[in-house]
Amino acid sequence: MALIVQKYGGTSVGTVERIQNVAKKVIQTKNNGNDVVVVLSAMAGKTDRLIDMARLINKDPDPRELDVLLATGEQVSIALFSIACKTMGHDAQSFLGFQAQIMTDHRYGMARIHNIDTEEITQAIEQGKIVVIAGFQGMDEFGNITTLGRGGSDTTAVGLAAALNASVCEIYTDVEGVYTTDPNITKKARKLKYISYEEMLEMASMGAKVLHLRSVEFAVKYEVPLHVRSSFVEAEGTMVVKGDTRMEKVAVSAIAYNKNEARLTIIDVPDKPGIAALIFQPISDAGISVDMIIQNSSIHGTGMTDMTFTVAKDDYTKALNILKNVAGDIGAKDVQGDIHVAKVSAIGLNMRNHSGIASKMFSVLSEAGINIIMISTSEIKVSTLIHEDYTELAVRLLHNAFELDQDQPDFEL
Ligand code: ADP
Ligand code: ASP
Ligand code: MG
Repeated sequence: MALIVQKYGGTSVGTVERIQNVAKKVIQTKNNGNDVVVVLSAMAGKTDRLIDMARLINKDPDPRELDVLLATGEQVSIALFSIACKTMGHDAQSFLGFQAQIMTDHRYGMARIHNIDTEEITQAIEQGKIVVIAGFQGMDEFGNITTLGRGGSDTTAVGLAAALNASVCEIYTDVEGVYTTDPNITKKARKLKYISYEEMLEMASMGAKVLHLRSVEFAVKYEVPLHVRSSFVEAEGTMVVKGDTRMEKVAVSAIAYNKNEARLTIIDVPDKPGIAALIFQPISDAGISVDMIIQNSSIHGTGMTDMTFTVAKDDYTKALNILKNVAGDIGAKDVQGDIHVAKVSAIGLNMRNHSGIASKMFSVLSEAGINIIMISTSEIKVSTLIHEDYTELAVRLLHNAFELDQDQPDFEL
């Protein structure tokens, strides 16, 4: 008997009818002789609505209470789903994060799972029940409710699959798998049969929200077989696997984008040791993650430099205020920022062995008159920061230029 962890996202449980359909599918899997642990997201749009309500009261709501509020979204789904299973004649039991002993650190809104005690879940499985777990939430060591960051239900599912040593973790979503780019941006996007953990990690961290970044990190660390597939169409999706998956050594395998970026620039900073630390320490103390960073000392020997970096849009105002305070202390001239930016990235495991990817990317963007504000690279990706209005255009142009619409044979694993 196999143990399967299945996660259903917000669209998949978006209405009572859809919840009933998912319950039917899960019961089918169970009747086929498998044990099933189901992880559910909040119904589509629910988490956004809860955030909006809190912000009507306070633009920067208390983080502890915000997590208490957001955790209610998933509570609704697991209860309705368990009611549906029981109504269809199959025993099920719902678990909130703390009931499932999903233990996290205490960083509200971006907590990390560090331990799951599976005793009670295992007991329920042994009793033949369908186990239904609220995604996206856990509990810190003091008993506070925490949430794992937007899209975090994927991470709950992979974390549970690792802890329970499941044979597979299936992520059911509103697209048929992982594509060469977001299929909602271009119809030319192709579904990949396989994708390597490494490329999937890079795609997730570059903003392809089909999988939450931490979920891929868990999958890599614990070697959890991950299958991304549709909850609406009966078709094989994408297997996230170890190693290179492409028969042809294509340099670029996917284009990702992230609109959740904001740029900050601190102007005319004295160019001397210790300044970068003085700027970034208070930013990190405030729990703000920094993404791209550029610093370029003037070759004219002015002794001054500009420092530009990006943060998530939600952190923009907080980061700007911190920088304004720091600017005074370190004698910088000014602080500027822009929230209308997006990051577009080309990703490929074989980029290591190809040259000219970055220059091709820059010329494609320049031919379309798209200005590049920042650039960053790693061994397997090139990212550009551009005006957010050009995101979709840039994604389509790059997808064409790197011929991602062309059929590329996968290895048969
Ligand atoms: P769920 O609610 O099921 O967790 P998400 O909205 O979080 O679903 O993730 C699925 C979405 O990810 C798709 O609808 C698609 O718009 C987006 N996406 C971005 N990049 C990709 C990609 N490369 N392949 C597939 N989907 C992608
Ligand atoms: N409900 C949460 C969100 O909307 C978690 C998830 O769906 O994965 O971000
Ligand atoms: Mg998601």
